[in-house]
Amino acid sequence: MLDSKVPSGPLTQKWDAYRAGAKLVNPANKRKYTLIVVGTGLAGGSAAATLGELGYNVLNFCIQDSPRRAHSIAAQGGINAAKNYPNDGDSIWRLFYDTIKGGDFRAREANVYRLAQVSNNIIDQCVAQGVPFARDYGGLLANRSFGGAQVSRTFYARGQTGQQLLLGAYSSLSRQIAMGKVKMFARREMVDLVVVNGHAKGVVMRNLVTGEMERYAADAVILATGGYGNVFYLSTNATSSNVAAAFKAYKKGALFANPCFTQIHPTCIPHTGDYQAKLTLMSESLRNDGRVWVPKNKNDSRPPNQIPEAERDYYLETKYPSFGNLVPRDVASRNAKEQCDAGKGVGPTGFAVYLDFSDAIKRDGRDVIQKKYGNLFDMYRNIVDENPYETPMMIYPASHYTMGGLWVDYELQSTIPGLFVLGEANFSDHGANRLGASALMQGLADGYFVIPYTIGPYLAGATPGAVKTDHAAFAQAESAATDLYRKLLAVGGKRTVDQIHREMGAVMVDEVGMARNAAGLKKAVGQIQQLREEFWQNVCVPGSAKDYNLSLQKAGRLADYLEFAELMATDALTREESCGCHLREESQTDEGEAKRDDDNYCHVSAWEYTGYGNSPKFHKEPLDFENVELTQRSYK
Ligand SMILES: Cc1cc2nc3c(=O)[nH]c(=O)nc-3n(C[C@H](O)[C@H](O)[C@H](O)COP(=O)(O)OP(=O)(O)OC[C@H]3O[C@@H](n4cnc5c(N)ncnc54)[C@H](O)[C@@H]3O)c2cc1C
Repeated sequence: MLDSKVPSGPLTQKWDAYRAGAKLVNPANKRKYTLIVVGTGLAGGSAAATLGELGYNVLNFCIQDSPRRAHSIAAQGGINAAKNYPNDGDSIWRLFYDTIKGGDFRAREANVYRLAQVSNNIIDQCVAQGVPFARDYGGLLANRSFGGAQVSRTFYARGQTGQQLLLGAYSSLSRQIAMGKVKMFARREMVDLVVVNGHAKGVVMRNLVTGEMERYAADAVILATGGYGNVFYLSTNATSSNVAAAFKAYKKGALFANPCFTQIHPTCIPHTGDYQAKLTLMSESLRNDGRVWVPKNKNDSRPPNQIPEAERDYYLETKYPSFGNLVPRDVASRNAKEQCDAGKGVGPTGFAVYLDFSDAIKRDGRDVIQKKYGNLFDMYRNIVDENPYETPMMIYPASHYTMGGLWVDYELQSTIPGLFVLGEANFSDHGANRLGASALMQGLADGYFVIPYTIGPYLAGATPGAVKTDHAAFAQAESAATDLYRKLLAVGGKRTVDQIHREMGAVMVDEVGMARNAAGLKKAVGQIQQLREEFWQNVCVPGSAKDYNLSLQKAGRLADYLEFAELMATDALTREESCGCHLREESQTDEGEAKRDDDNYCHVSAWEYTGYGNSPKFHKEPLDFENVELTQRSYK
């Protein structure tokens, strides 16, 4: 049985009690410890900066040419916090409750409550760094509402919130780099985790420019390597987002939790053709003012402005009168798919619904809408070549976020002692579905406010500098990684990495996407296994391992996805209930909503690697709810 190490005592006091009792590392001793932080997004960047400020020596790595280019920069809509500035009834409790309920009661109460508690500290910290959040007429920080909540608690900087928050974290990080506390290594890819006597003690990195393997030893390793949404090939994620680092840790003994919980975001620009490399998100904040509709008649090919009001179906408003267009993402996505599957989709492919701002523009004026969403409207216009101020946007769901990730306890420590996991890379606080604007909150909570406390007790019991890079475990890890890249280059087949990835993505979208059933999932497992075989016999990776070789990088990541995709399907197959994003077609209410089975599945599923091609071993963390009543989620 997995030990989540949740402190005892009342929910509202657990975090304070933990901090009061946690072992501290003496300030003078902190400089003796070296910590590896892989990732410079909001989770990794904030952790590296904070741990450097505390006095630890930090080695910080990222794939991009600059920490500022981590995928977090793409986040648009905002970050949640329970400040209750609008005075509309918010509180720490309500943010906690909405998050637990939004996640369909598949997250740990204590973690989620802590998240809601520290949410307010995040805003203070970011404001102090100079993050230019939007403000209201009186000068207070402005808030807007996001899906799944009936209060306005989302802080934002137009549609560039992630960028502004990342610049804030980056400025703190830069200070530590200048002071010599953080050493920054860009253009590095973690190709293995080094475990010595059961403890995480280092990493092997591939220098992406020279192709050299490099060894780094430390007293603990922190992974903040983001999510695995690109397993679907097309997604809103940065193209370099990957599962590789987390999967390497999984292969070294860290359990992987709830891999099948992935979020399909309802408001993305629809895909246009087979040769597209990625999809673009239109922030969820747009659903505050935009109204979602489809023509009432099937196969209606008239332009939207020629479809009279009486012939439009505002299906979210009709079906969910109390939340309307602001239902959570999983609900909005499933409903869009349902409409398109029923032949009411719009646009050239029929896989799109309208998001219409005409009423909001009539009500508030174009200037107001432009101020709120101007950059998003410009982006849409540049991509689609239509003016959303005049013609409704077209949107369709796309892979966006992954709630699954490496299993961590209350201290954010994985099942490998000394390996901590932050941000989207851990299985975290969002259960089976993440509410909008809560990923930035969790990444920054983990990095700024949780890990600085929870790493202390581990380090206090570890001798600093105990393992050096000449340890045999480093040599083994380096040689295995070198062999892997050699093998990839040697296949010399006929299909590109992208072709195979695209094919695997299509399987994942069809069978492990918005709706799943046992027959489809079993079929997917077989198809993924076949594709994996084909990859190793027929992939073509040009170039060499000794320079910047993008095909080789992608091939390495796809090799992991081809194993990981099977784990996702296996996880989905064993969870014979619907919950949050995971709609098992066999388990629906009479109204077609996700039907949970709390008697049998109120747990976290955590998987242990048992060798290439073998079935993973199942572990269970039961979820105890002492403070909230498990209800059927309803947004009607
Ligand atoms: C388009 C878009 C808009 C979004 N908008 C919002 C929003 O408005 N609000 C919200 O709350 N959330 C939003 N999200 C989600 C949110 O942006 C992410 O969940 C969050 O930024 C993830 O942060 P992270 O630090 O965990 O990971 P990331 O930002 O993905 O950073 C990962 C880091 O790890 C590094 N890395 C990865 N693998 C390796 C490896 N093998 N070796 C070395 N380094 C590695 C990368 O280089 C990078 O530095 C959005 C997501 C998208 C795609």
